[in-house]
Amino acid sequence: MAQLLITGGAGFIGSHTALVLLEAGHNLVVLDNFSNSAPEALRRVQELAGPEAAQRLTVVEGDIRSAADLDRTFAAAPGDQPVAAVIHFAGLKAVGESVREPLRYWDVNLAGSRQLLAAMQAHGCRTLVFSSSATLYGYPEVVPIPETAPIQPINPYGHSKAAVEQLLDDLAASEPGWRIARLRYFNPVGAHPSGRIGEDPSGVPNNLFPFVSQVAVGRRAELQVFGGDWPTPDGSGIRDYIHVMDLAEGHRAALDVLLAEPPQLLTLNLGSGEGHSVLDVVRAFEAASGRPVPFQIVARRDGDAASTVADPRLAAERLGWRTRRGLADMCRDGWCWQQANPHGYGH
Ligand code: NAD
Ligand code: UDP
Repeated sequence: MAQLLITGGAGFIGSHTALVLLEAGHNLVVLDNFSNSAPEALRRVQELAGPEAAQRLTVVEGDIRSAADLDRTFAAAPGDQPVAAVIHFAGLKAVGESVREPLRYWDVNLAGSRQLLAAMQAHGCRTLVFSSSATLYGYPEVVPIPETAPIQPINPYGHSKAAVEQLLDDLAASEPGWRIARLRYFNPVGAHPSGRIGEDPSGVPNNLFPFVSQVAVGRRAELQVFGGDWPTPDGSGIRDYIHVMDLAEGHRAALDVLLAEPPQLLTLNLGSGEGHSVLDVVRAFEAASGRPVPFQIVARRDGDAASTVADPRLAAERLGWRTRRGLADMCRDGWCWQQANPHGYGH
């Protein structure tokens, strides 16, 4: 059992990971400015975790770019327990928005991470799990993609993640003692099986899964499938979808390894190793929901790759972790969340 600090813990991946870590017996302080989430998510995490575990979660509203907010957060652990590790989810993640507002992306994602690392150094905490992304691989040359593939991001969001990865390299090389995991997520989807917590995008979803579930629930008329002429078996794009609960468990496994082993810098893909096309997702969601998902095939979206699938073997080897849930589980749990919360948390 350790005292952990989770930045962005009210968000989609953060809330599911917070639940898994509470269930593993850890004490958590969550720092979130709720710019893309609602306090209600953390209230539901507490409800799912039960009354004993709920007391082990402290919430601080604040910004990772503020040294004062970070100091307040490090001091917020009950009983003055030092923070043993940070899990850093806070950041901005919309590719299109990053093209329009690069300054904001570099500010939150890079300057925010730098500020957090400085606070960790000042507070004597040198263990970090960082949310990186498969977007770093750009248009991959080899699929499934190994961690050794070239880093060649193609948008400001990806550049900001690559810059943080580089900063973590530099930091780990600068002094001994850092324990860092850079986790490159593929496509996180789905929800907790209770349907109490899930993904709650604001506005029109950019990503396939939330869009499909909003079509199924009747919030949107039809899906646009971006490209039917990709070099894939059915002509639609292929991605490696990972159930958010598998991803949350991957964080717990990474943390356990970092805390148990000598200091190291780990860089791991978190994905299933299986690819599914857009049309596979449509069919699986229709089967899980019993609702039609009308779609139209339109032009390719700028910046999309035909196929991105993880080589997940290194994570299996280093963490003893692999995904356990398939596409049908992702659709079932995503639909359960969507149906019970057609307008998300209502924030
Ligand atoms: P999310 O937007 O749901 O969660 C991010 C959380 O960070 C939100 O609660 C938001 O309010 C908070 N936040 C944003 N800026 C902040 C700031 N300046 N100070 C404090 N809190 C702040 O996103 P998510 O899908 O849960 O993603 C979490 C992390 O994983 C992000 O770093 C993202 O880039 C990365 N990632 C996500 C995906 C994905 O498809 N969801 C894929 C790869 C990597
Ligand atoms: N996609 C689509 N219609 C949409 C959103 C996405 O056809 O409204 C496709 C997209 O072209 C890609 C896949 O679905 O092949 C996953 O896209 P998403 O944006 O969810 O993830 P990413 O492209 O970041 O991997």
